[in-house]
Amino acid sequence: MRDAILLTPGPLTTSLATKTAMLTDWGSWDGAFNALTAQVCTALVDIAHAAETHVCVPLQGSGTFAVEAAIGNLVPRGGKILVLVNGAYGRRMARIAEVIGRRVAVCETADDTPPDPAELAARLAADPAISHVGVIHCETSTGILNPLAEIAAVVERAGRSLIVDAMSSFGALPVDAREIRFDALIASGNKCLEGVPGVGFVIARRDALLASSGNSHSLAMDLVDQYLYLQKTGQWRFTPPTHVVAALAAALDQYRQEGGQSARLVRYAANCRRLISGLARIGLRLFLEPSLQAPIIVTFHAPNHPDYDFKRFYEAVRARGFVLYPGKLTAVETFRVGCIGAIDGAEIGQAVAAIADALAELGWTH
Ligand SMILES: *Cc1c(COP(=O)(O)O)cnc(C)c1O
Repeated sequence: MRDAILLTPGPLTTSLATKTAMLTDWGSWDGAFNALTAQVCTALVDIAHAAETHVCVPLQGSGTFAVEAAIGNLVPRGGKILVLVNGAYGRRMARIAEVIGRRVAVCETADDTPPDPAELAARLAADPAISHVGVIHCETSTGILNPLAEIAAVVERAGRSLIVDAMSSFGALPVDAREIRFDALIASGNKCLEGVPGVGFVIARRDALLASSGNSHSLAMDLVDQYLYLQKTGQWRFTPPTHVVAALAAALDQYRQEGGQSARLVRYAANCRRLISGLARIGLRLFLEPSLQAPIIVTFHAPNHPDYDFKRFYEAVRARGFVLYPGKLTAVETFRVGCIGAIDGAEIGQAVAAIADALAELGWTH
């Protein structure tokens, strides 16, 4: 039997070529591995059209490690970050800033409501202490797409710096550093790039990064040090996740072969449409306004049945070979389905059938 299909946005289902790229052992100071790191970093900067202005600093760990590193390095100890919050990842960014001792303010909207650029402009005008703004591009806790270009324009006009958590969008939704001004954009290998977990990266404006020397709250998360050491030696400062980097290099080869960002977006958007229409046919409703929905992960209202229990639903769908994600909202009962990973219409169609079949078995259809 094949492995379960992960409809969870990272870890997600990877291709056989990506998995087999992990069958080689690499020496961390070996020239071939250093070349692999350099090749991956160049590819990542190119996806953001940022080669003129930005550098890519890879960091061991999950995506949150890279978010924490970006904030700890780029926001000076005397700086202040305003985080736009409309879900769990925005709240996490604010919490990171608080834990590492940066001054932080939040501008919060409801889970189903994007931040308002006009309100952001007013907040920035009213508080000159705010040096940085943090935004989540696609807030994965619901799947809502936040208006990155509009927010970046407001931040630029106000003369502040922007830090973007593009973890769940990078590689699929377009970001062009020549048009959208940011000091840092953070993502990881195991979302839309379809690599495996274990590496995050920060695409940092070169001059802002170099100016942030000495800011870091942490030795292991010092991005300036990591960057300068990589520049000088070609090596990571501490043991690199070699197999993970090799998998990401293979995933990026496939990304190029598929046709890059635009082709990936087309595939994910088709997955998303097929998922939404398939589940609509069995009475499952979207949580978000369709116009706010990014084609990354979709939040559905739970089946409207008094006995509904996510764990039982999960197990019934899991027994049919598909892994769902729980909802991340407190006020409404929801569940989430990812449309990203090495999957296309065939797997989405099978997933819809598995969900329908599971609900029929549980007696929760209506
Ligand atoms: C996945 C994700 C992260 C990082 O989560 P990890 O579990 O640390 O990899 C951060 N922000 C967003 C928006 C995400 O989707």
